[in-house]
Amino acid sequence: MDSRVKQFMAKIEAKNPAEPEFHQAVMEVAETLIPYIEEHPRYKHAKILERIAEPERIIIFRVPWMNDKGEVEINRGFRIEMNSAIGPYKGGLRFHPTVNLGVLKFLAFEQVLKNSLTTLPMGGGKGGSDFDPKGKSDNEVMKFCQSFMTELNRHIGPNTDIPAGDIGVGGREIGFLFGQYKRIKNEFTGVLTGKGLEWGGSLIRPEATGYGAVYFAEEMLKTKGDSLKGKTCVVSGSGNVAQYTTEKINELGGKVVTLSDSAGFIYDPKGIDKEKLAYIMELKNIKRGRISEYAERYGVEYFNGERPWKIKAFAAFPSATQNEINEEEARLLISNGCKVVSEGANMPSSPEAIEVYLEHKILYGPGKAANAGGVAVSGLEMTQNSMRLPWSREEVDRRLQEIMKNIHSTCVKHGSEENGYVNYVKGANIGGFVKVADAMLAQGIV
Ligand code: NDP
Repeated sequence: MDSRVKQFMAKIEAKNPAEPEFHQAVMEVAETLIPYIEEHPRYKHAKILERIAEPERIIIFRVPWMNDKGEVEINRGFRIEMNSAIGPYKGGLRFHPTVNLGVLKFLAFEQVLKNSLTTLPMGGGKGGSDFDPKGKSDNEVMKFCQSFMTELNRHIGPNTDIPAGDIGVGGREIGFLFGQYKRIKNEFTGVLTGKGLEWGGSLIRPEATGYGAVYFAEEMLKTKGDSLKGKTCVVSGSGNVAQYTTEKINELGGKVVTLSDSAGFIYDPKGIDKEKLAYIMELKNIKRGRISEYAERYGVEYFNGERPWKIKAFAAFPSATQNEINEEEARLLISNGCKVVSEGANMPSSPEAIEVYLEHKILYGPGKAANAGGVAVSGLEMTQNSMRLPWSREEVDRRLQEIMKNIHSTCVKHGSEENGYVNYVKGANIGGFVKVADAMLAQGIV
């Protein structure tokens, strides 16, 4: 590792102890940005990198609620307001037992550069709780969301901080959160995105992250004169991002052969077609069941406690969670002929896995570029809320495709190497950084 990166990281680690995911996210960015900043001293003198690694504000709060048995439960709530140089804080809420300060800081840090890449005026933030919606009744989820928003409401607003969904926060949770915000503030505003269509939501928002990750893969493939048509793909996860990634791959003539959840994965060599995907959506979004039930229903193999990366495929779409592909799995993917990795999830590849992709010069779209479609359409939802005028499905999808194309061009502009290889990690980090850094320079030392 470059000694300048080492020095920088030593300070970050000392200041943010016991936050390995945050260190990992900052290091990945520092490795590409520090050499760039050396060439652009104005960023160095103003300590922009040091400043963007320090959240503007962190809010931590108690979330007490009563379960169906009449017992009091206590969770911890967080909101990280990371950077507001180019717009109000924007980023999702995650409800999952693994949520802690370090995980949310990594997500908020990534979000700042990602939001900048979309070209829309959005700063970066992230929040959530260690609450686990799995196994809870609708009533319990509502009680929790109401208590969570009773505190969060005083920190957010349509021009201040606009949360959205993430793992464990889908349409149901956004509904409960919005209802409580509206009740407390007595105003109907676009304070959250991912809302229902009847009450301020945008068409294509549920689809946006998954569709965007596939559009990004197609853009990368175009540079090689190739496409996903007729290709086998492995997808992990079976939530929002995985579902719409599968839908778009099917639409473009590809074949998805795996999906997973935290317990294991299913392998369906015939492909998860439209009808089978409808079954998954019902299973996951309504019945809230397990992916193993798919294997029983369709008579395919289920791999308990395993991840899908050992299955032979042309393209991989990690769409579950952070660090779900390690070095060995990255090597396995490549030795099985994988040419494209497009990250629907945030930081799903370990640093060692990323090194393997770059060493083999495959097309690798890091999350902050490849999954930016979700927040981009959240930005479009905010625009529609401000205009009080909804756009058609075609209009939003057209804008989403255009944004993904632009993000791809930005990555090519900043990430092209002399030998012609596009390092999308470098491209996304520098492309996202410049706009935020220039705004911070213009706004002085704040
Ligand atoms: P969902 O909650 O809808 O789905 C998450 C999926 O990932 C589920 O299948 C879940 O399985 C699985 N999963 C969650 N945690 C783990 C874990 N620790 N190990 C293995 N599997 C796990 O979330 P989303 O689809 O919204 O989010 C997926 C990823 O995409 C996340 O990294 C998120 O940050 C990222 N992302 C999401 C965006 C969005 O718009 N929703 C935008 C940009 C990025 P199980 O049900 O068993 O928990």
